[in-house]
Amino acid sequence: MAKSTEIMGQNTPIRPHFNFDNTFARKLEGFVVSCQAEPASAPKLLQFNHVLAEELGLDPAVLDSKVGLEIFSGNVAPEGSEPLSQGYAGHQFGGFAPQLGDGRALLLGEIIDTQHKRRDIQLKGSGRTPFSRGGDGKASLGPVLREYLIGEGMHALGVPTTRALAAVKTGDNVYRESPLPGAVLTRVAASHIRIGTFEFGAARGDVDKVRQLADYTIARHYPEATDAKNPYLAFFAAVTDAQAALVASWMNIGFIHGVMNTDNMTISGETIDYGPCAFMDRYATGTVFSSIDTHGRYAYGNQPAILSWNLTRLAETLVRFVDPNKDRAIELLTDTIQGIQTLYEAHWLSGMRSKIGLSTEDSLDLKLINDLLLLMEEGNADFTLVFRRLAQALRGDIDTVRNLFEEPDAFDIWAQRWRQRLKQDGIAAEARAQAMNRINPIYIPRNHKVEEALTAAVEQDDMMPFSQMLGILSHPFEEVPENQAYALPAPISDLPYRTFCGT
Ligand code: AMP
Ligand code: MG
Repeated sequence: MAKSTEIMGQNTPIRPHFNFDNTFARKLEGFVVSCQAEPASAPKLLQFNHVLAEELGLDPAVLDSKVGLEIFSGNVAPEGSEPLSQGYAGHQFGGFAPQLGDGRALLLGEIIDTQHKRRDIQLKGSGRTPFSRGGDGKASLGPVLREYLIGEGMHALGVPTTRALAAVKTGDNVYRESPLPGAVLTRVAASHIRIGTFEFGAARGDVDKVRQLADYTIARHYPEATDAKNPYLAFFAAVTDAQAALVASWMNIGFIHGVMNTDNMTISGETIDYGPCAFMDRYATGTVFSSIDTHGRYAYGNQPAILSWNLTRLAETLVRFVDPNKDRAIELLTDTIQGIQTLYEAHWLSGMRSKIGLSTEDSLDLKLINDLLLLMEEGNADFTLVFRRLAQALRGDIDTVRNLFEEPDAFDIWAQRWRQRLKQDGIAAEARAQAMNRINPIYIPRNHKVEEALTAAVEQDDMMPFSQMLGILSHPFEEVPENQAYALPAPISDLPYRTFCGT
C-alpha cells in the first residue's frame, strides 16, 4: 500500500476526513498485527453506499470518486488509518482452530458516526496477512457482491448486520477452480470482535489479555455492565441477549447463516460473514444450502441450538473473571446459559406474534403459530409469501394465501382460529394489515435472483441487475407491481440450491 497522508486532487489536496480513532490498535496489543494491503492493478469502483457514507459522517461526493477508489481498493491508506489484521480463533463445525484471524481482511481503523457510535472500517479481500495460512488473502467478485447485496438487504429488513460501504473490482484475477475477477469489499461493523476473539486469547492462556479484551469490549458495547454487581457475568448476559435477539430475527425472516462457527458470531450481535448464507423459500426446518454443511449442523431449525452452543464457548473464556471460585463461576454462567433458549423463544415469539398481526399476548399464541408453521411445512408453502399474504386475507382476499398451501382446506381451519384470536386482539383490520406489511417483507434476496445479478456482474460486466436488485431490497416492505418477479420463489428445479464459502 502506498504511503500517503493526503490524496492530491488536481490543484488542492482532497481529504476524505475519516477522523480515525483506533482504540483496538492502541489497547489490544497481542490481538493485532500491522499489515498493508496489496495493490490493485486496475481498480474500478463498482458500488458505493452514499446513504451509509452520510451516516458515517463521510462526504459521499469526495469518496465516490478516484479518491474513494484508491482507498477502497487498498492502494492508498487514508490519513489516520493504522491497517491491521486481527487475531481470532474459532470452533468450526464443532472443532477448535486456535488460530484463524483476518486472513483476508484489514482493519483500517475506527470512526465515530453521526449517531456517536464507533464503527470499524475494514477492507475484505485486500491481500495476504500474517493470518492467511495457505490462502491468497483475496476475494473474488461474486462473493463480494453477494455480501454487499444480502447484507444491505438484511439491514433494510431491520436485522442488525455489518454493512457494505463499497465494492471495488481490482483488475486482477484470483485463482480458485478457475481464474475469477478479484474484488475488495469495504465492510463497516460495530466492531469485529467475535466469540473467537475471546477464544484466541484464552487458547494462549493469557489471562490478562483476555481480561483486557473483556474490559475493552464491555466499554465499547455494553458499558452498562460495568455498574452491575458482577460486570463480567452481566456482560455475558448482555451478549447472550443480543445474540438471542439476532438469531430470533433470522428465524423470523427465514434466513440461514450457513456457517455459525464461533469466529462468525460477533459480540455486538451483528450478523457477520455472508458466505454460504441464503433465505429459504419453502418452509422446511431442515433446510441447508451450504455445500460443506453435510450433516446439517447449521440447518435453519438448528440455529437456536447452535446459539447456545456458541455462547457456551464464550462462557468458558470468562470463567476466571466471573468468580475467583471456579465452581461458583461455572454455576453462575451455567444459569445464564440455561436461560438462553427461554430468552431466544421470547424474542422469537414476540416477532412471530407481530408477523401474524397480534399486538397482545395469549398463552395459546405459541400453539397457534407453531400450527401454522407445521401446515406450511406439510403444505410446502413459501415462508415469506405466507406471512406477507396474511395481510391480504384481512383485506378480504384469502385465496392468495390459501393457494400457497398444497392442502388449502387445512389452512382454512387454521385461519378460522386465527380470526377468532384477532377478534380478541381488537384492532381494525386495515390498521392491522398495514402493521403486518411493515414487518413481513415482500422482497427478500431470493436465491435465483441473487445468482442472476451476480452472474451478470461477473460474467457480462453488467452491474444493472445488481443495482436494480439492491434498490428493490432496500425497500423490502413496499410492494411494487412491476417488481413481482423479485417476490416469487424460484421455479421448482431438480437440483437443490447450493451455496459456497465466499473465498
Ligand atoms: P470465513 O469462511 O470467511 O469465515 O473464513 C474462515 C477463515 O479462513 C478466516 O480466518 C479467514 O480469514 C480465512 N480465509 C478465508 N478465505 C481466505 C483467503 N482467500 N485467504 C486467506 N485466508 C482466508
Ligand atoms: Mg469468518
